[in-house]
Amino acid sequence: MNSKIEKLYLNCPEIIQNVLISISGLREKRLRYNGIYPQFYRSISENFKMDRQQQEQYQIDQLRRLIYTVAPKVPYYRELFSQIKLPSPDKFQLSDLEKIPILNKQVLRCQPETFLSSDANKKRLITIHTTGTTGTPLKVFCNAEVRQKNYAFFSRFLDSVGIDPAGSRATIGGRLLVKGWQSKPPFWRYSFFQKSLLLSSYHLSDSNIGSYIEILRKKKPSYIDAYPSSVYSIADYASRNRISLEGITDAIVTSAETLLGYQKELIEETFRAPVYDQYGSVEMCVFVAQCRSGQYHLHSDYSYVELLNEKGHKAAPGEEAEVICTGFINDVMPLIRYRIGDRVLTPSWEQKPCECGSGFPLIKKILGREDDVIRTPDGRKVGRLSGVLKGYPVREAQFIQFKADEIEILIVKDSQYNSYTEKSIIDEMLKRTGPSVKVIIKHVDSIERGKGGKMRHVICNIKPE
Ligand SMILES: [Zn+2]
Repeated sequence: MNSKIEKLYLNCPEIIQNVLISISGLREKRLRYNGIYPQFYRSISENFKMDRQQQEQYQIDQLRRLIYTVAPKVPYYRELFSQIKLPSPDKFQLSDLEKIPILNKQVLRCQPETFLSSDANKKRLITIHTTGTTGTPLKVFCNAEVRQKNYAFFSRFLDSVGIDPAGSRATIGGRLLVKGWQSKPPFWRYSFFQKSLLLSSYHLSDSNIGSYIEILRKKKPSYIDAYPSSVYSIADYASRNRISLEGITDAIVTSAETLLGYQKELIEETFRAPVYDQYGSVEMCVFVAQCRSGQYHLHSDYSYVELLNEKGHKAAPGEEAEVICTGFINDVMPLIRYRIGDRVLTPSWEQKPCECGSGFPLIKKILGREDDVIRTPDGRKVGRLSGVLKGYPVREAQFIQFKADEIEILIVKDSQYNSYTEKSIIDEMLKRTGPSVKVIIKHVDSIERGKGGKMRHVICNIKPE
């Protein structure tokens, strides 16, 4: 929505807003599920049964198509390929991909148009802007077909965990549905044709959550689709106030933020429903999702993903790795060996078929954004900060750094929080940073949500050396 339309919408009465949301929902539904969607969905529906060898062949075929047919229509790759020597298409092997240099986000951010295929129909172009947390947002170009393919992958994931993609849904997200300063419910709108209850993630506070629970209990969506921090706020409120959320929904799907262990535990316990986490990106070049057995699978027919360690080599089992990906679905703006800026933990066990029956490779954990780290005075990057708070009575927290030798932790206290908790948290922090850093704890009533209503766990304003 552009800002003018948004302003008009926000000034309409609730009933008109519901109509407008429903109309735009109908358009969205058509865009998602028409066109090539049904046929494409069928074509990928059985791919998870592929064994390792079949997956590799599938990926080689896709990479060949991408490199020799799609990329030459893209100015950036035309220029790049004139400088490197690639084998002829029939000789191409996975190892040849490494001849193409890794693409950094900065290049894409500065010159998105150079990645646009000359084949793309400009009139049918869809531009997606990321809710970049720092710096200039990223522009991603695609078209209706690309989005249909993307939704087909999402539907396949929902299907695989027993959720009907066409079923009723409640989405707690960052869309501006009601005025930011509104203090009384409803903080939601209903999209009639999509059977979707859309709830604002900006208004989740102790004084409002009761009304969220009421509407969810009334609508009983088949599944809830939310940022981990949003649905966790509801679970946490319910747990503190001994409110049962059982029977509200059959499943919860989380995405867009790193799902932390304690969040998943409490959400599942209070809702008595499973949480399935999905990790993707606006650039549409990685798709990881949890299966029925709770394992993260890398959907290898969506993209080719390289997991590289700090030295730039293939990560060993159990090692932290950065995600370098080559997407298969967006021919309008193909990205090859793209450094997406997220880190994962590779499994420490041998890859073997999962209990769920999927042959897609496993990832142990999504660690999150590369920039979800703080920097110490001696130049180290310290990540995975949720461990600092593990087991302590803290409802929400945010780590903020403006100076190399000072970390601020904003904390929303839980009832058992006391001076001992505070001292322990500081000690935990110092174990990671070293004693030369000053840790300041500030108590707040809530953590402000960033762009798109997402919660950022770490904000570091120190530029890397
Ligand atoms: Zn599985």
